[in-house]
Amino acid sequence: MSSHMKPMIEAREALHNLPVYNSGISIAQAREISGQSDIAALASNENPYGTSPAVRQALDSLVPSRYSQSTSGTLRQTLAEKLKTDSERVLCGNGSEELIGAICRTYIRQGDEVLTVVPCFGLHQIEAIAAGATVKKIPMTKAMDYDIDGLVNALHQRPRIFFISSPSNPVGKALTKTDLDRLLDATSAKTLFVLDEAYFEFIDADYPNGLDFLSQRPDLPWITLRTFSKAYGLAGLRIGYGIASHPQIVKAVQNCLSPFNVNSAAQIAASAALKDEKWMQATADIICKERERLFQHLTQLGVTVIPSQANFLFLNLGIDAARVAKTLIEKGIIVKPWKEEGYTEFLRVSIGTPQHNDRFAVELAKILDLS
Ligand SMILES: *Cc1c(COP(=O)(O)O)cnc(C)c1O
Repeated sequence: MSSHMKPMIEAREALHNLPVYNSGISIAQAREISGQSDIAALASNENPYGTSPAVRQALDSLVPSRYSQSTSGTLRQTLAEKLKTDSERVLCGNGSEELIGAICRTYIRQGDEVLTVVPCFGLHQIEAIAAGATVKKIPMTKAMDYDIDGLVNALHQRPRIFFISSPSNPVGKALTKTDLDRLLDATSAKTLFVLDEAYFEFIDADYPNGLDFLSQRPDLPWITLRTFSKAYGLAGLRIGYGIASHPQIVKAVQNCLSPFNVNSAAQIAASAALKDEKWMQATADIICKERERLFQHLTQLGVTVIPSQANFLFLNLGIDAARVAKTLIEKGIIVKPWKEEGYTEFLRVSIGTPQHNDRFAVELAKILDLS
């Protein structure tokens, strides 16, 4: 059968116009395109300093021939102790991405409405659509703040799930206590409130800890998502976790996961990383300082940069960001041009080492003709 023939079997209708996740290009591809060996990988918000040395050491105990621990029991216990909660309220996933998908499969009925913001983390939309929902997206304000009034109104319509990241990926802003209070007050018990805190560890100002905050609302169903991919430097092993308001939610979502969803290496590495929080905190501190330095530098150059509480900056270039990103790849620098309608002149750049950040700033200034 030739490739242009209609396939015999078609994917479900909900998947026909599914937006594609923008995972960008790999370091290997960037090497090929640029001819450079030292690539500034500033597109995926990874930890430029790697991971704790304790992780590599712990991985010596890996036994690849044995199945991993089903439902990550030991790790969940460790997380529960650290977070002063019950392990029955903790859930581990093959990346928090997997949990986003499982949450959608657990709760969405055909035609349900899911609420989120725009610009948003792609999977908050993609997984919801794939599960059969329609997605309503409330734009950030002109100043790129969360439109709390707009979200409050939309929450009154009782969407099935509300996905919001704080700090926001890609914007970098974080929800204040007042914002969270207003959002929770507008949420009914018919809506699952999902607070995605993938960048929680990089918050350095006076913002609320989402988990502590949500814990004051046992009357509402909620989950907060966190990950080992960003601050802990374990993106390649795929491990994230969630804390839910009620054990029933964990049980229901767990039923939509495969029994050995988190591999042994990831469970071992995450446990070791948790035992060496000092390493994580030290690198997060360096990254936050570097974020402020790059923010100042780019702002002085005349670039419009949004203040960030995460390990990346969102820049409004005023010209097509995809073209700028393409030119940067030729210089060995990978960044993420935003693809959502209305935001295609925005570029997200991860905070890397000072050397890589400077390289980015120099090349960007050349492209934009700034000095
Ligand atoms: C990176 C990211 C994730 C995915 O994390 P994994 O644990 O690597 O799957 C989830 N949510 C947001 C907002 C992210 O930016």
